[in-house]
Amino acid sequence: MPFKALHLSESVLRGVQAAGYTDPTPIQLRAIPVVLGGGDLIGSAQTGTGKTAAFALPILSKLGAHAAKPRVLVLEPTRELAAQVETAFRDFARYTDLRTLAVFGGVGYGHQRSELRRGVDVLCATPGRLMDFVQEGMVNLRDIQILVLDEVDRMLDMGFLPVVKDIIGRCPRERQTLFFSATVPPEIQQVAHFALRNPTRVEIGVNRSVNHSINHALYPVAFAQKFDLLVALLEKTDFDSVLVFTRTKHGADKIARKLKAANHSVAVLHANRSQNQRIEALAGFKSGKYEVMVATDIAARGIDVAGVTHVINYDVPENPEDYVHRIGRTGRAQAVGDAFTLVTPENASDIRDIQRFIGQKIPELRLEGFDYLPFNTPRPAPQHQPQRGGQRGRPRAPGGGHGHRAHGGAGGHGAGSGESRGFRGRR
Ligand code: AMP
Repeated sequence: MPFKALHLSESVLRGVQAAGYTDPTPIQLRAIPVVLGGGDLIGSAQTGTGKTAAFALPILSKLGAHAAKPRVLVLEPTRELAAQVETAFRDFARYTDLRTLAVFGGVGYGHQRSELRRGVDVLCATPGRLMDFVQEGMVNLRDIQILVLDEVDRMLDMGFLPVVKDIIGRCPRERQTLFFSATVPPEIQQVAHFALRNPTRVEIGVNRSVNHSINHALYPVAFAQKFDLLVALLEKTDFDSVLVFTRTKHGADKIARKLKAANHSVAVLHANRSQNQRIEALAGFKSGKYEVMVATDIAARGIDVAGVTHVINYDVPENPEDYVHRIGRTGRAQAVGDAFTLVTPENASDIRDIQRFIGQKIPELRLEGFDYLPFNTPRPAPQHQPQRGGQRGRPRAPGGGHGHRAHGGAGGHGAGSGESRGFRGRR
């Protein structure tokens, strides 16, 4: 079915043509009629499915002429997504007189404030900066007709749910709400229940498959040796650019610091970095200035970092879908990519979930020449050192800074490497 048959407005159809789209994607086919009909919608779909146009096109078609007050609010978990989605709205609206604006933190208030004063129809925002403007009276949510809550599972991960609920409460009860989340755990169901009325469910199958041009492997290692193995893998691997994933922002900073100390050129991408730092990190990684980028899932989500030759999961991802997302960052455009995952004993059930999700077993490898401690070596307890000889004992965070060795190199404590784990050799 062509876009023409979907009853979008003439000017929006011209925008679709200008974007070069010919046929709607499955989520567009299913969501556009629901949105045009005025119903609430709950969609399980990820970026990459054409989700943005699935809500942007019918919303723009319904808005009519410019009215200089925000009538559509799209909430996004990250600044990059807010900017990306606003750009899509602006492109599709190019043959209308509707005005769109992205509102997010990490940059000055001046430009956003002056654009708000000029009057906008569609606001794409991250929750924190939006609330700043609401509280100072620059943004009034009383005229919102359509509320889009996008990537709600990410908002939950980022701790945004309380502010998101506050924002929902400030929108009129008589509104249309569109809700997108790749996963819908109980906490999200509760928000959906609170925000939506008789929603139509649209589920677009999550991509579970791993691109066949990617060689992916698990590297079991004792917790205390994770960082050493990362360094050894970087030393022994012929790579152009490596994306290293950690679960936490704090972890990303720490790994980046330690990699810099090991003479790697490193960029860091996570939600606590300023917008300018994030732009610089991505641009530097793309241009080759940085050979390694350490990132969290949230920051890297939906962002195009093509050209990556290796992905290393320093921490096993929390959600099986993130495994597919993360390793899909390499091996693009027919290129062969490698994706390694460091696995410690506490990750056993996460790995089982990932293997079940992707429907295949991931081979286990062992790096030759690396002096492995036994896999089950207990994870060092967090140290709460008593004060000794007038020196302040600085407690260390659990899982932090234990990979240091008295002597350099990947070897070290010299515990035997013959654990009976049935490892295969390095490819
Ligand atoms: P999204 O899932 O919204 O992030 O979209 C993923 C990519 O697909 C973006 O680059 C869109 O421009 C593109 N896209 C979305 N819908 C279509 C379509 N109907 N035809 C071709 N490309 C599309």
